[in-house]
Amino acid sequence: MAESRQTVSETLADIAACRPVLQPVLHAFAPLLEARAALPETLAPMLEESGFSLPSWQQERAQQGAPLLSGVALDGLSSLVKTSARKLLPLLTALPGMADHAAALETFFLSPDGKVMQGADSLLAGNESGIAALASEAGVPAPVLLFALETCLGPVLHVVAAKYRAPWDERPSSWMQGFCPVCGSFPSIAYLDKRVFDEKNAFLAGGGGKKHLHCSLCGTEWHFRRGACPSCGKEGSGTMELLRESSGSRGERIDWCTSCKSYCPSVDLRERDAVPDMDAMALGMMHLDIVAAQKGLLPLKPSFWNQF
Ligand SMILES: [Zn+2]
Ligand SMILES: [Zn+2]
Repeated sequence: MAESRQTVSETLADIAACRPVLQPVLHAFAPLLEARAALPETLAPMLEESGFSLPSWQQERAQQGAPLLSGVALDGLSSLVKTSARKLLPLLTALPGMADHAAALETFFLSPDGKVMQGADSLLAGNESGIAALASEAGVPAPVLLFALETCLGPVLHVVAAKYRAPWDERPSSWMQGFCPVCGSFPSIAYLDKRVFDEKNAFLAGGGGKKHLHCSLCGTEWHFRRGACPSCGKEGSGTMELLRESSGSRGERIDWCTSCKSYCPSVDLRERDAVPDMDAMALGMMHLDIVAAQKGLLPLKPSFWNQF
């Protein structure tokens, strides 16, 4: 991304100043979000030493909707996942309701015979029954294991994703899916970009407002059609509707699909000064998650905080 973004703490401070009611939740999640954002710097040199071979971007596979990491075994990333878990598990289990699972999660992620890489492969493959089986074996509820896997694997995949020079953004028609071109996860948040000026690329010049999706897991961002649903793929007038507060929304809204009733929080950056950290911003949209739940809508990407 060309524009510079706020850090996690700047974003959280900005949200808390406008919405004091969210302060306790933001405060609880801040250490975890900040540590997640800092980890890629530690992990990047480890990726170079790991010998993990990156699959190359293939236009044909992409056009068939296959994410880069689909079918790739993550074994080679094991030392990165453990480093991430050592840092993040203590913060994760400090969250309300998580302390009881600390010992079981530590065994799962860090003991020599732990099943963490099996879990990582299941997560990437979207294998829910695989995760459920591992969770029951580990003695934790499946949603807790899923949340812990997403948390610890996220920074690792972030480093992997950063190795690609965003071919999906240079040629937007090469990736048309509502899920991530790198890891296949659904986005946790979308944004409409600010006005852009680019003398070299006429496609980018204009009034802004192009829609981008932000991957909840690896942080990849890609362009997506504004009138289409990222979940069911339906497109056309009347498919996507907006839900926003009548005043003071600062570009914050929910884009929901009239066909499948899924929604994704979105932020219109043309209505804000600073560009937020998108992972922190997704948490800061919790007030709209509550409105969506009351309306019977389902989050495109369930998070720890939006499953009501
Ligand atoms: Zn991703
Ligand atoms: Zn839909």
